[in-house]
Amino acid sequence: MNTISEIVSRSTFSAEDLVALLSTKGAERELLHAKARQVKEEHTGKKIFYRGLIEISNICSKNCFYCGIRSSNPNVVRYDMPDEEILEACRFAHANRFGSVVLQSGEIQTKKFTERIANLVKRIKHFSNNELGITLSCGEQSLETYRRWFENGAHRYLLRIEATSRELYYKIHPDTPKHSYEKRVEALEFLKDTGYQTGTGVMIGLPFQTVEDLAGDLQFFKNFDIDMCGMGPYVEHENTPLWKFRDLLLAAEERFNLSLNMISALRLLMPDINIAAATALQTLNPLGREKALTVGANVIMPNLTPLKYRKEYLLYENKPSLDEDSELTLRNLEARLIAAGCEIGHAEWGDSKRFFKRIEK
Ligand code: SF4
Repeated sequence: MNTISEIVSRSTFSAEDLVALLSTKGAERELLHAKARQVKEEHTGKKIFYRGLIEISNICSKNCFYCGIRSSNPNVVRYDMPDEEILEACRFAHANRFGSVVLQSGEIQTKKFTERIANLVKRIKHFSNNELGITLSCGEQSLETYRRWFENGAHRYLLRIEATSRELYYKIHPDTPKHSYEKRVEALEFLKDTGYQTGTGVMIGLPFQTVEDLAGDLQFFKNFDIDMCGMGPYVEHENTPLWKFRDLLLAAEERFNLSLNMISALRLLMPDINIAAATALQTLNPLGREKALTVGANVIMPNLTPLKYRKEYLLYENKPSLDEDSELTLRNLEARLIAAGCEIGHAEWGDSKRFFKRIEK
């Protein structure tokens, strides 16, 4: 049996090594986190980067079993932000020296939606003189749609697979053509082929999930050669089918610690990718995102969605910052980041270093 100090000094990791890293506790966990921080600083630098998150619509055609805005939940007030409000949030990001914004929505596959996003991307690029980088997170789309958005200026795309084990995937999604595992993976391939910096991620601490599943997720990321990752703890939502399995969940603190171990293990496995400190970490621990930035993450996504919409974009319960406006959110966040010893890459895109090495191959 290898010790954690032996494992963290390697550059390749077996499934057994990853399980050992994910299972660390106490002083060994501290060692893992310290090593991940060192690797992050060596490979991606000391800075962390902002992505201003704008949740542009909670309308979704899908029915994922864990998600509060699934189409079958009648308790959600659906919204679709007008273009001018989206642009206003982008202008706030630009004025506050964010390098990038993320436009996120439920999954809508209509010609109208495709054209609308294409137009918005073009307008954001235009008003910011190409200074704002754009990440999209608008679900599975056709290759043509991905190309159209890319050609208009979006250059990163986040499409979380949520569980890379096919078996677990169908425990948290309906087994229907609309929720096909194969189509999800194919969409990730489309994104890479189109030329996006491509990101995916999973939920950590799902019911039925084992630590071996999580080690498998890490190996999937490595084999797929992702450029970015956004992953965080599973947080249950009452109006979803998975709610009835909440007694199977790890305690919130264990889910939080497991999430930090996932971030650190991924940093060791893929030293030069971008890893986001997911908002769900803050639900389980008020300083969760700042902690993640000290154990391997290098991206944070302050929520710039106008307050009047935020309460309706609840993928999970107890989502933080629902009643703080963007200015206050930002001021509080900056103070916490500085206190946590972070250096902020203002007005920088903070692209994935892995991406440039991947496309050189
Ligand atoms: S997880 Fe995404 S695709 Fe699934 S129901 Fe929620 S918003 Fe829609």
